[in-house]
Amino acid sequence: MDMEKLVSLCKRRGFIFPSSEIYGGINGFWDYGPLGVELKNNIKQAWWQDMVRNPPPGPDGEEVTMVGLDCSIIMNPKVWEASGHVGGFADPMVDCKKCKGRFRADKVYVRIYAPDPASVLQAMVATAVPFTCEAESLEEAEQLLQAKFEKRVKKKAVSRDLLPTATFKLSEVSPALKSVPWPCPKEECADSTMTEPRQFNLMFKTYVGAIEDPSSIAYLRPETAQGIFVNFKNVLDSSRVKLPFGIAQIGKAFRNEINPRNYTFRSREFEQMEIEFFCHPAESMKWYRYWRDVRKAWYTRLGIKSDKLRPREQGKEELAHYSIGTTDIEYLFPFSDEPQELEGVAHRGCYDLSQHQKFSGRDMGYFDDVAWERDKSSRGMNSFKEWLKTNPPPTEIERYQFIPHVVEPSAGADRFTLAVLCEAYAEDEIGGEKRTVMRFHPRLAPIKAAVLPLVNKDGMPEKAQALYRELKQEWNVYYDDGGAVGRRYRRQDEAGTPFCITIDGQTSQDGTVTLRNRDDCVQVRIPLAAVAEELRKRLKG
Ligand code: ATP
Repeated sequence: MDMEKLVSLCKRRGFIFPSSEIYGGINGFWDYGPLGVELKNNIKQAWWQDMVRNPPPGPDGEEVTMVGLDCSIIMNPKVWEASGHVGGFADPMVDCKKCKGRFRADKVYVRIYAPDPASVLQAMVATAVPFTCEAESLEEAEQLLQAKFEKRVKKKAVSRDLLPTATFKLSEVSPALKSVPWPCPKEECADSTMTEPRQFNLMFKTYVGAIEDPSSIAYLRPETAQGIFVNFKNVLDSSRVKLPFGIAQIGKAFRNEINPRNYTFRSREFEQMEIEFFCHPAESMKWYRYWRDVRKAWYTRLGIKSDKLRPREQGKEELAHYSIGTTDIEYLFPFSDEPQELEGVAHRGCYDLSQHQKFSGRDMGYFDDVAWERDKSSRGMNSFKEWLKTNPPPTEIERYQFIPHVVEPSAGADRFTLAVLCEAYAEDEIGGEKRTVMRFHPRLAPIKAAVLPLVNKDGMPEKAQALYRELKQEWNVYYDDGGAVGRRYRRQDEAGTPFCITIDGQTSQDGTVTLRNRDDCVQVRIPLAAVAEELRKRLKG
């Protein structure tokens, strides 16, 4: 599928617009149009319904307890010190000295061409020519670098006899090659050089209150997760939940990404759908596997084909220092040869709650009274406090009193919306006529049904209007009486509307209408009075 075609359809039909477009836009920010906002809302609602209100049964068939939260975007800056974002939420980046372009060092790939590549890897030699490019994968980089080399050969700027070294990410070159004058990856300023990689904090900074001084600095949250951790005790104390349970939140997050790219995939403002699932350390691996499987199955259920969906267990070297295991659920977007992250499911141990306990001085521990009540008689004790006085070993105490472990399925609402758009886009031919059709899962489709009077006379508009008014009480439906009916069907196909209901001449004779199915264009006649019930059945999907 051609990304350009999708981007153009999204603009033309009102799914996605560049933000503040009349002023030339702003890099890394996007707006959702009338169809886009319905699609994204349906995605968020499906997530809330399926993960918070009605999650699948737990690993042992038990009910899973989930509650929701909606936290503020700006929080006390100490939150970000505790979470490690102030000190460490940084990508290494390089600047071009001439065009001032800024690139992520882990997205810039480098390779040297020389008569003897082996000697270059020990030290830069005079006959060596460095090349760079920006790419998402090694494979893409190797193609781009070779193309750049061929171009320079054609211009007679370098000799065809030179041979390439292996290809490296700029962030991973050996110390001997650190001081190589790496050229800018942009073709137009290839002769300029770049700075060494430097750290760059991705958090957006602002000031709270009237005075702009260091004491009033605050940050726009770079993730929704921390709002959940800092409210862990509030939720425990207010909602009578018991471990294991999860807290979910959907909300905006902001990251000053060095290089926003690939449409909405990497934006500077985006929405996350995050769960922090709290459990006893001894049960955490079980819950990690549960969430990894539940989350993958959710994408499949909503129409993402399994051959494009890949859960990928991160290697030891990729894991954050506190993480016991992380699985990225990846999707093969059309803009890349390799699947890209839709969601990370991370086993975060007790890192986050321990950090907040340390930085806030508040106790983030949990006392499992159910387990204690179960065991106390076998321990010959009535009170936990009395039992502690007998100096039981710490491993025994931790059965009842501990800092919970956390499993975090963290998804991007915009990334999934983009995956749904990519997956839905299709071109086919119906009766010799080409059409573009968005094959959305019925639950996600922005418009569920269109109501069309065949012509604007003979009592048809009145019947169609009455049906439209009935259906819109339950769903987002669309009324269209403009132009030939075939054209109206095409418009709905492009919007991804699963069903079209047409009121025609026969309606006034026998009280039936046609119901057209988007995917195969098959039409059936059903009683007008049964339309709502039929839609209810079919939309369940
Ligand atoms: P990446 O490696 O792609 O930068 P990440 O590993 O930093 O992503 P997380 O911090 O795990 O991402 O964030 C969880 C989810 O939030 C991601 O899986 C993704 O869906 C979404 N997300 C993160 N950064 C962005 C962004 N810049 N634009 C859109 N969505 C994002």
